[in-house]
Amino acid sequence: MSKQPAPAPAPAPAPAGASAPAEEKKPEKKEKPKAPKRRIQVHKLYKLGEGSLTRLRKECPRCGKGYFMAQHGDRLTCGHCGYTTYTQKG
Ligand SMILES: [Zn+2]
Repeated sequence: MSKQPAPAPAPAPAPAGASAPAEEKKPEKKEKPKAPKRRIQVHKLYKLGEGSLTRLRKECPRCGKGYFMAQHGDRLTCGHCGYTTYTQKG
């Protein structure tokens, strides 16, 4: 290497605390892997028989037809109005 670009004149040191933006160190956030948003799989709420259709979920007594209750371990819940009934085991 023979040709070297002349070193640029060093810029004058800026006065302390004049222009340098103060970088605040934020505590590192633990990023959780986002789970894909679950959509209601409507086809799982119905079962087609021979010329008949059966609904696999109970309908909400408050909201009426078309509002199915979500099945949990020990209860049925309506996601629309919050109506909950507990299923008794045994
Ligand atoms: Zn409801």
